[in-house]
Amino acid sequence: MANMSLKKVAIPEQDPNVRNKNFLEVALGYTEDMAKEEAQRCLQCKHKPCVQGCPVNVKIPEFINLVAQGDFEGAYNKVKETNALPAVCGRVCPQESQCEQLCVRAKKGESVGIGRLERFVADWHMEHGKDEKVEIKPNGKKAAVIGAGPAGLTCAGDLAKQGYDVTIFEAFHTPGGVLMYGIPEFRLPKAIVQKEIDALKEMGVKIKTNMVIGKVHSIDELMEEGFEAVFIGSGAGLPSFMKISGENLNGVYSANEFLTRINLMKAYQFPDCDTPVRVGKKVAVVGGGNVAMDAARSAKRLGAEEVYIIYRRSEEEMPARLEEVHHAKEEGIKFKLLTNPTQILGTEDGWVKAIECIEMELGEPDASGRRRPVAKKGSEHEVEVETVVIAIGQSPNPLIKSTTEGLQTQKWGGIIVEEETGATSKEGVYAGGDAVTGAATVILAMGAGKTAAQAIHEKLMSK
Ligand code: FAD
Ligand code: SF4
Repeated sequence: MANMSLKKVAIPEQDPNVRNKNFLEVALGYTEDMAKEEAQRCLQCKHKPCVQGCPVNVKIPEFINLVAQGDFEGAYNKVKETNALPAVCGRVCPQESQCEQLCVRAKKGESVGIGRLERFVADWHMEHGKDEKVEIKPNGKKAAVIGAGPAGLTCAGDLAKQGYDVTIFEAFHTPGGVLMYGIPEFRLPKAIVQKEIDALKEMGVKIKTNMVIGKVHSIDELMEEGFEAVFIGSGAGLPSFMKISGENLNGVYSANEFLTRINLMKAYQFPDCDTPVRVGKKVAVVGGGNVAMDAARSAKRLGAEEVYIIYRRSEEEMPARLEEVHHAKEEGIKFKLLTNPTQILGTEDGWVKAIECIEMELGEPDASGRRRPVAKKGSEHEVEVETVVIAIGQSPNPLIKSTTEGLQTQKWGGIIVEEETGATSKEGVYAGGDAVTGAATVILAMGAGKTAAQAIHEKLMSK
């Protein structure tokens, strides 16, 4: 008999006033009983609308049915059939705009907690399950992957399973991409990402770090060395700025630098790390996406007394996940909506002292379909802050394009690919993830890595 409660089983979380001072994970996860109770809310719909909302077609009703029966390892294996990183996706996927949005239970009440259940089975497996050793028959072919983010890791894993000798070239000293350097520990513990990376190494994937392709080697050089296919999964790590005066003052960070220092260089453990990050008592974070929420919540945890999110549209248009906005509010982040910075003001010795903003109102929809923010004349005002973090978007770094003959890109830098295969304009070179789409999501990057691995395999096997 289905559990007809209109609400999801609540997930235990750290208290907001405790967690906003530490970097431990916010949500603590379901117990076995909670997971079974939530799984019983699923109606096992024959037409499976939830699956249509999942970019990698996880067999949602099937895995939830196994959870309801208490077969947690079976449920994990069911998810793993199509999703290589369930512990990551269960935590960071925007389920509310994907599978959970299409769940029939969401028509009246809350959807089934698909993401929470996915996370539960992945964590249960990590604690109690066993990974079968996959027997791999080498096929004698070499493939190179540029970038160790979700796109590159997924592509590398799928190629390794097909017997390829795979080498990942990663620019940073640590693999994982945004999962390691962008998304904070309190949302995605790094030990989970490391486990996935270790599993790839077990399969024989080689990961060469501190290897900036375009500087250390070019793609042509890799192909001359005998790599028969190259996958570019180099992400979108080039931060955008507002082009207003004061952006070069001390105390202004791109979200990229701010979060990298905190997550990758562990600045939050200072002085037990090499890289401190200076955070003032009052901090403004400009932007309304996940990156902005992560930067604001990190600033609070580093001791800032007041943290403002400054966003030029209203809450309805905010691209951040609902859960992140909700958590940020609970943790005391203040939202200055319909507000846009006009300049950053500095002290005589070059440090930030305030950000000048103007109020906005929403006009007609623009090309993105969202209502265009229009400045309200005469509403300029100053907000006193000592730190400004700019989180208004990122684009692909032009390094690879500028060092690769014949690689076509969009004007804004996204690599142009054939949608069905991920093939670029250069023979033997494939691409996917944020390097192609611009800043998007983990699951889409993984899907693109999978598509390209399949296309590479078909192409090389047909040679
Ligand atoms: P990346 O993860 O960016 O990985 C690219 C890798 O390539 C990096 O490791 C980089 O160092 C390396 N690289 C770059 N250039 C070179 C080169 N020349 N040579 C060698 N290596 C190179 N998505 C969600 O679904 N949910 C979320 O909650 C979410 N939150 C986010 C929070 C933040 C702060 C950020 C920044 C992004 C967030 N995203 C989220 C987006 C998501 O993380 C990305 O869409 C996803 O990581 C893209 O994967 P990718 O593999 O294409 O690129
Ligand atoms: Fe279960 Fe919702 Fe999917 Fe129906 S739509 S099968 S209720 S998760």
